[in-house]
Amino acid sequence: MKKKPASIRAHLLEESPRDECGVVGVTGTDQAAEMVFLALYALQHRGQESAGICAVDQGEARLHKRLGLVAEVFNANVLDSLPGTTALGHVRYSTAGGGQLANAQPIMVQYAQGDLAIAHNGNLTNAHDIRKRLVQEGAIFQTDSDSEVVIHLIARSRHETIEGQIDDALTYLEGAFSLIISVGETLYAVRDPRGFRPLVLGRKGEGFVVASETCALDIIGAEFVRDIDPGEVLKLHGSEIEALRKLAPAIRQAPCIFELVYFARPDSNVFGPSVDRARRAFGRQLAREHPVEADAVLAVPDSANSAALGFSEESGIPFELGLLRNHYVGRTFIRPSQADRDFSARVKYAPVRGVLEGKRVVVVDDSLVRGTTSGSLVNIIREAGASEIHLRIGSPPVRFPCFYGIDMPTKEELMANRLSIPEIKEHLRVDSLGYLSLEGMEGAVKEAGPFCNACFSGEYPAPLVDLDKGLIKPGDVKCC
Ligand code: AMP
Repeated sequence: MKKKPASIRAHLLEESPRDECGVVGVTGTDQAAEMVFLALYALQHRGQESAGICAVDQGEARLHKRLGLVAEVFNANVLDSLPGTTALGHVRYSTAGGGQLANAQPIMVQYAQGDLAIAHNGNLTNAHDIRKRLVQEGAIFQTDSDSEVVIHLIARSRHETIEGQIDDALTYLEGAFSLIISVGETLYAVRDPRGFRPLVLGRKGEGFVVASETCALDIIGAEFVRDIDPGEVLKLHGSEIEALRKLAPAIRQAPCIFELVYFARPDSNVFGPSVDRARRAFGRQLAREHPVEADAVLAVPDSANSAALGFSEESGIPFELGLLRNHYVGRTFIRPSQADRDFSARVKYAPVRGVLEGKRVVVVDDSLVRGTTSGSLVNIIREAGASEIHLRIGSPPVRFPCFYGIDMPTKEELMANRLSIPEIKEHLRVDSLGYLSLEGMEGAVKEAGPFCNACFSGEYPAPLVDLDKGLIKPGDVKCC
């Protein structure tokens, strides 16, 4: 745990909290908070540390947010205390100094035009720079969250209308932001000009739904209308919808390909393609690029299931349930101090001996980040009797940190940044190792590109202002 900085300057230099998040907003329905609650269930994979809902009833906003899973934070009584026809919600994952209640969202304030609440997915790359200026001008911040600067920028805008103020605020922001903002009973849904994070529009009865992923629409029986375009601002009020101006349409779009690799749920459509279909295509391409003779294909469940099925389809090697995932391992389970470094993986994954004994297996994972999961799994699979282990990764080597909203470690902690591919093979003690190529991955989903592939290529599409200005140190910056 980092020591809390004492001064404002030190505070500015502290690493950003990492925000992997899911957002949802609903208008024009009697049980808006209940809808949002269900939708947050479907978005739980995008953040497990805190959950919150703000509901607006006749102009008055009420907020409930806590640390914990959606099921822990809300119950019938809480939902009853959140009446109204407009609501927005948020789930958040954060570490690095950000895991306090103060940083949970939505963030709600009272400002000149009424109650305002905001839910943000993504990470601003100039939040420290904006914040520094605002603090020098006398602004007082209540959270560490980069999202709070958006509220200050809206509140301080000299424009008269709410739309003008929001528009004005957005022109200062750099980086990744899919935002839902409520002012009174009106929702504004915003996607940054590069469209790093997803945001979709749905229709439910007379009203509208906006959400990070289509799986949130499915759970409440809302009909998918379309993706909100990069740079687009939508205004939703009851059953009315208005497309406000697009932000900087000349900027090249850069949706995050890691959403398709790992982050999004396979039953969602993200940036157009079905996530399951995209991952299967990655798996098929991986089998073409790195063929191998083996008896069984295994997935590292659950995130690599689709890619492993694709590998099996293309190679003709049967897909087997060689590893089971324990779904009851709590987020906060405390690792007992003990010598077995594979303990965490053993709690999470169980080998199926009958499948593995004496078999040559292909193990497919969606990504290799620090290399800890794969390292432990190789030991577990070998102990269960596999005769050969061929590791296949459904994405290229992750060599660079993400600054736009995916939680990844510092560059130094990334295994593919420290070691070459032959060295990784030796280190993990596998019989062979193959990564999907960048061209192969992007080619498999080219209709949705061009993408942000910074974690693989080091080419960052949005300026890293805070980093370049020295407001955060390179090693400190976490993707959010
Ligand atoms: P590692 O053990 O650090 O190599 O992480 C790779 C494993 O974690 C893979 O099985 C992925 O499914 C999963 N993973 C990849 N990216 C992330 C992320 N940003 N947060 C949590 N898990 C991840």
